[in-house]
Amino acid sequence: MSFVIALAGNPNSGKTTLFNELTGSTQYVGNWPGVTVEKKEGRLTKYREIAVVDLPGIYSLSPYTPEEIISRDFIIKQQPDIIINIIDATNLERNLYLTLQLLETDIPVVAALNMIDVIKKRGEYIDKDKLSQNLGCPVVETSASKGIGIDKLTEEILKIKAQPFIRKKYAYYDRRFEYFASDAEKIISGIVSNNKRWYAVKLLENDQIVKNSIKLDECLSAKLMQKVQALEKQFDDDCDSIIADVRYNYIAAVLKGIYIKKTDRKALSVTEKIDRIATNKWLALPIFFIVLWAVYYISVQTVGSFTVNALDGFFKNFAAAAGSLLNKINTANWLKGLICEGIIGGVGAVLVFVPQLVILFLLLSFLEDSGYMSRIAFIMDRVFRHFGLSGKSFIPMLIGTGCSVPAITGARTIENKKDRRMTIILTPFIPCGAKLPIFALIGGAVFPDYSLVAPSMYFMGIFTVIICGIMLKNTRMFKGEDAPFVMELPEYRMPSAKGIFIHMWERSKDFIIKAGTVIFAASCIIWVLVKFNWSFEMVQTKHSMLASIGKIIAPLFLPLGFGNWQCAVATLTGYAAKENIVATLGIVLGHQKEADFAAKVAALFDNPAAAYGFMVFVLLAPPCFAAISVMKRELGSLKWFTFAITFQLVISYTAAFFIYQIGSLFFYGGTAMSSVILTLLLALVFIYIIIYMFKNKNCKNCAKCAYKKCTHKS
Ligand code: GDP
Ligand code: MG
Repeated sequence: MSFVIALAGNPNSGKTTLFNELTGSTQYVGNWPGVTVEKKEGRLTKYREIAVVDLPGIYSLSPYTPEEIISRDFIIKQQPDIIINIIDATNLERNLYLTLQLLETDIPVVAALNMIDVIKKRGEYIDKDKLSQNLGCPVVETSASKGIGIDKLTEEILKIKAQPFIRKKYAYYDRRFEYFASDAEKIISGIVSNNKRWYAVKLLENDQIVKNSIKLDECLSAKLMQKVQALEKQFDDDCDSIIADVRYNYIAAVLKGIYIKKTDRKALSVTEKIDRIATNKWLALPIFFIVLWAVYYISVQTVGSFTVNALDGFFKNFAAAAGSLLNKINTANWLKGLICEGIIGGVGAVLVFVPQLVILFLLLSFLEDSGYMSRIAFIMDRVFRHFGLSGKSFIPMLIGTGCSVPAITGARTIENKKDRRMTIILTPFIPCGAKLPIFALIGGAVFPDYSLVAPSMYFMGIFTVIICGIMLKNTRMFKGEDAPFVMELPEYRMPSAKGIFIHMWERSKDFIIKAGTVIFAASCIIWVLVKFNWSFEMVQTKHSMLASIGKIIAPLFLPLGFGNWQCAVATLTGYAAKENIVATLGIVLGHQKEADFAAKVAALFDNPAAAYGFMVFVLLAPPCFAAISVMKRELGSLKWFTFAITFQLVISYTAAFFIYQIGSLFFYGGTAMSSVILTLLLALVFIYIIIYMFKNKNCKNCAKCAYKKCTHKS
């Protein structure tokens, strides 16, 4: 077995950034807690025989959520050779709480005092040598994002690797407490061989999972219980609090005289100043809307329309050039068609949107790394809480702006099973990057002058999450206690160019790889299906295999205003990857040959309301197969999975239906924009009525009424 280093630390302390520095990989980094939910493995760049494991963030070794259990199990059961404990130096006291617990194990610990750049910038000082002495483990100052201290860290690792490790000093607490701890250690000495000290403290903490894991017999168990009771009696408190207290007292002693904080803390920090406005009760939501609109406006409207036109021209010329070249070398007509119309047409129609996506991802990465995104979770928590939802559900949704796959996995940070399930079902409603080309294509073709159409998909996603959240929370399946949401807001930071670039590249790369694989393959298949009939003769598009398949399901979409075979097959091919919808329309409508491609796209829909309905349908329908399979894995049961898919289908169909029907009924002939806004208003009235009905229904049983402001008498 190779030598294994585990990276452990509080959420958002910089573990993944350090992991990337140590191993040269490019794992996802985000300035909010809960980004890494699975452990990631790599190897030290210079010493490939040493494995490095990035663990999900933990505040303590008493886990509550699945991803915290991953971290604890890895440390205690797999017994890595070294733990690098990443300490966020700007939150020293709280971070040391975990450090002490790591120091209770028999595994050598190296403390990386990370974010030291921030400490220095603030003009503060931490005496690392004294800290090292007090803790009894090496302490290295690092700044993972600036690549500082990595060599020193490697040096410490090699030092420990070179000699057998003996823990010189455990974290010893209150003298009275130690008396109980050593007794507990004696009680379990026959059954555990490793990490005795850690087990002893855990058992005094009365940790049931640990207790069950070591299979105490009844006699030992009773002895331990006696100790716990005696401990509680002596300290006159419950065992959890006693242990937290002795640890914090110890931390205070460790830190005494070694941390020189800036005395002039009366002045507001930059973060506090920004937060006064950004999280202000009244301003927060409008600011959030403006920020999102600006992100979309810049990426889709301004830069977007320019680059789309340029690239569009490029691909058309490219197809023409390829065509004449193939003519010269006497290529068969079908092959020429496949290359020019199928591959260049399909893949090109998707690649046209790469610059828009790159800019979208760049701006989103900036928002994430700067710390603003975590404020959004905080702001949304205020909104969500009114409806009995937790803001914690919003974190996976933020990740979902890139891709639903990691977002659905990200729901593991939610302790409450019902909430986790609900989050998995609702997260795909947030538009992922792959859906942007669809909104850009249809928005540009049908609503070229309205900059609000593309960003409105974001608001539509959030809006649907809230509405569906309320609906589901009011059912027995999802009703439950409000989970408290404690989220730590990280400081605002000027994101590093490297960090943003990695972020943007990771997301864009997926998109480009998909264009070269899934979309490439799908484009070839679609082209064949659209050029040949069932007897494999080349025919006109409308007599093709694809048309006949599309015509079977197209009637389903008649009530939605896009009951043609082209739209029908586009929604189907979208399951392989959502960008395929654009590729399919590109091939079917002849993206390469036609100058009036946009007009042809617009003509697919009965009216602008139907086009908007189509965008909403694509937004809310079940995600691509990759995300669907992750949904299945995370939901863990066929019953819930079936429910989730059915729910998403029903919601997407209903939403598109209402948008088209109400839009056409009231605003047919009105401007496109008025129909969008008025439809939303009408939908709001509808929802209000639904909520009102629920409210009254609940109030028959006022004692259990979910609405705190209920005025009905029981
Ligand atoms: P994790 O949750 O512990 O894996 O933390 P990440 O690696 O995702 O980093 C959290 C945030 O802190 C990101 O925005 C990083 O860019 C930032 N960060 C990480 N290390 C440092 C550092 O040493 N100095 C500063 N200023 N920022 C850092
Ligand atoms: Mg991480």
